[in-house]
Amino acid sequence: MSDAPTPSRSHGRLSIAASLKPRVLMEEPARLAAAWRARIITLFPEAFPGILGLSLTGRALDEGKWGYDTIQLRDFGIGKHRNVDDTPAGGGAGMVLRPDVVGAAIETAQAGTPRDRALWPILYMSPRGKPFDQAMARRLAGAQGVTILCGRFEGVDERVLEHYQVEEVSIGDFVLTGGELAAQVLIDATIRLLPGVLGNQASTEEESFSHGLLEHPQYTRPAEWQGRAIPEVLTSGHHGKIESWRREMSEEITRARRPDLWEAHISQQKKGK
Ligand code: SAM
Repeated sequence: MSDAPTPSRSHGRLSIAASLKPRVLMEEPARLAAAWRARIITLFPEAFPGILGLSLTGRALDEGKWGYDTIQLRDFGIGKHRNVDDTPAGGGAGMVLRPDVVGAAIETAQAGTPRDRALWPILYMSPRGKPFDQAMARRLAGAQGVTILCGRFEGVDERVLEHYQVEEVSIGDFVLTGGELAAQVLIDATIRLLPGVLGNQASTEEESFSHGLLEHPQYTRPAEWQGRAIPEVLTSGHHGKIESWRREMSEEITRARRPDLWEAHISQQKKGK
């Protein structure tokens, strides 16, 4: 991938502008329509919508059920070469994104958004962050939108995170090269909870994590494959029995695979009594 600046872009119900500049973002708060929106600060705007442009999330994007703007961090760079990073204070390997550069990009991204962080959180994708989970996806889906800062190199100067009360969010205990993939994971999990994005809303109520448990096994035709039959109860047509079987399997799988979730589920049930 080249390091040449790529124009900032918008995609969503109101417009698709191939070269949306920061100034335009500032001048058009009306662009923030009712649909949930992500404003993504990145050195690689061309990485979006990426996988989010396909299948259900892609269709929902085209239908304006959610939208996004990318803000090219390089546009805020310093000097002739539009430098966005510098060496770490105190020495050490790699480069760190400058607070003045990131700060200017955040100011632009925030134009026209609610000041209340509950309505519009500012997130920094970071391996040091709070682990992203279904509960956070639900909370973000309840906001009007989010601003997401995608890091690169060794990360971002700490002062800019403090100054803008940025929430650090991790998608797992591993280190990626940049925040763009992590941002797409977060956006995907969030927008599928928005009304009308999935064809069948009931599926989000029954899937893994919605009740603190992992999902039961799923089967479909053919009735027998490689000598393996679908569990009889599932073809019995007895809805009560099917529901109890699914529940039991869900509990068994959660207990075996995720003792942490199981413990939390049990203590939640005790509290509920
Ligand atoms: N020096 C950082 C550290 O040790 O915590 C890692 C920086 S990483 C090479 C570059 C960028 O990738 C980060 O700034 C962050 O935006 C993104 N990133 C890497 N791993 C991530 C994860 N597990 N979750 C979310 N974002 C991640």
